[in-house]
Amino acid sequence: MKKIFVLHTGGTISMQANHDGQVAPSQVNPMIQISNPLSDIEVTSIDFFNLPSPHITLNHMMQLYQKIKKEAPHYDGFVITHGTDTLEETAYFLDTMDIPALPIVLTGAMRSSNELGSDGVYNYLTALRVAADEKSADKGVLVVMNDEIHAAKYVTKTHTTNVSTFQTPTHGPLGLVTKKEILYFKTAEPRVRFHLDSISGRVPIIKTYADMECFILDSLNASNISGLVIEALGAGNLPLSILPAIQRLVKEIPVVLVSRCFNGIAEPVYAYPGGGIQLQKEGVLFVKELNAPKARLKLLIALNAGLKGEVLADYIEG
Ligand code: ASP
Repeated sequence: MKKIFVLHTGGTISMQANHDGQVAPSQVNPMIQISNPLSDIEVTSIDFFNLPSPHITLNHMMQLYQKIKKEAPHYDGFVITHGTDTLEETAYFLDTMDIPALPIVLTGAMRSSNELGSDGVYNYLTALRVAADEKSADKGVLVVMNDEIHAAKYVTKTHTTNVSTFQTPTHGPLGLVTKKEILYFKTAEPRVRFHLDSISGRVPIIKTYADMECFILDSLNASNISGLVIEALGAGNLPLSILPAIQRLVKEIPVVLVSRCFNGIAEPVYAYPGGGIQLQKEGVLFVKELNAPKARLKLLIALNAGLKGEVLADYIEG
């Protein structure tokens, strides 16, 4: 019998729709009332939070990490139910912390608990099956939705309402859940993990676009922020108008670059002004394969862990 600890945190999976189709948290979390039909899994579940995921903060993520660390000796795995809007950020955060080598699975729903075709209970039971499977151990934090198993590092929400919203754009899921089995086709790559007791700092994300004005970047002051994530164009290039601001900021704080493209890897390729080659020479750090919200978490965690200079650059670009 596998013992799984479930932390409900809120989101659509725990919400209900009213007669007008408006979706909101309910007084009693419907997930806590679900009886477990999986006879080989013993479930202990708590309402850890009951929040829409746009209300989730770094502090909530840190509380989840601390709770998992504390309960790990008593359980075989963990399931976290979470709103889908920021699920990938909580998953990535936990995956970058010093978590135990047990299955840790996040899931959610695109349709609330009383909507026609609700996917909540199905995803929940699937997540329990994945968390109870020994093959899921030591694969880092997993996201299980719509019968797919994704690595926290790469998964992203790709659709506002579709139940197959969670995807790994560059190379697909790690595995699948079938009617009878949990199948893995790949293993998660090793991760550098950090232990922190608390986390703080300000790392804004700025998205770039054609004919970009420089006033937003000009208003940023290195004394008010700990770092910056810039969502660049294509393989990693910036409009000329913002170069002076980037050159000013990169002398004082880490400036981390990701691509605004949905798929592919940011790398210094272009040698024209504002191209990636120039940006890298100026000290801008290229992050491989992470989207901007995850790159922000990576930088924040690294800064809170005390990484600086070359060590910070190697970790961010590694
Ligand atoms: N807005 C909801 C949330 O993230 C969406 C969901 O859970 O699917 O809380």
